[in-house]
Amino acid sequence: MARTKTFYDLRDAFALPGCPICRLKAEFTDRLLEGIIYEQVNDPGLRTKFRQARGLCPEHAWGLARRGAALGIAILTRDVFRELEREMSRPQILFRSLWSRHGISGRAREVAARLLPRRVCPVCEHVQEFEQACYDSLGENLLGEDGLLGLYRASDGLCLQHFCGVLARVHEGRVLEELVAVQRELWEKLEAELSELIRKNDYRFCGEPMGVEAVSWLRALAVLAGERREG
Ligand SMILES: [Zn+2]
Ligand SMILES: [Zn+2]
Repeated sequence: MARTKTFYDLRDAFALPGCPICRLKAEFTDRLLEGIIYEQVNDPGLRTKFRQARGLCPEHAWGLARRGAALGIAILTRDVFRELEREMSRPQILFRSLWSRHGISGRAREVAARLLPRRVCPVCEHVQEFEQACYDSLGENLLGEDGLLGLYRASDGLCLQHFCGVLARVHEGRVLEELVAVQRELWEKLEAELSELIRKNDYRFCGEPMGVEAVSWLRALAVLAGERREG
């Protein structure tokens, strides 16, 4: 089978700590946000999406802000305010004779409906497509010679969200069986480490030195919530 870039990226990410898809997603998001600021501010397609989505979701808006590109953000957000202004100056909103028959609350809902986003955050949209490409690549390249199974088994495994994402796109029985078996093994190991950490916090055993279980609580949070993003 021809290997794609996503396959090689996954292979490399499995060898590093944490959920490989969280890692690749974070890198992809960084590239995307940088692309928006440095190349796409004047792209009409992006400007339209930005207006329709009323900007970005909180995570990506502040991710963009951390890059400190004041001019680019000013250009993109000014467009959104112009759009909001256009919506608010429509006759149906301004003129009492055109107000909805449902009274004040009906009119208020109408104003709100005009202002709310018309589509999802454009960065989220691309990130979701990227995650799906990762799910497909993992499913298609898990088994066989040079498959990802061995690396997966030796890794920290996937976070809960990404494991469920892969499961949602699996079409082959054997792939499903292996995915469930490996992830179960990894979670059992993590659960045992958590138990060991809890045991060593008991005053009777607190003199025993800590091993890998010392960081199991952080690992557990990352599996349930997704890896922590720095910066
Ligand atoms: Zn993940
Ligand atoms: Zn977003």
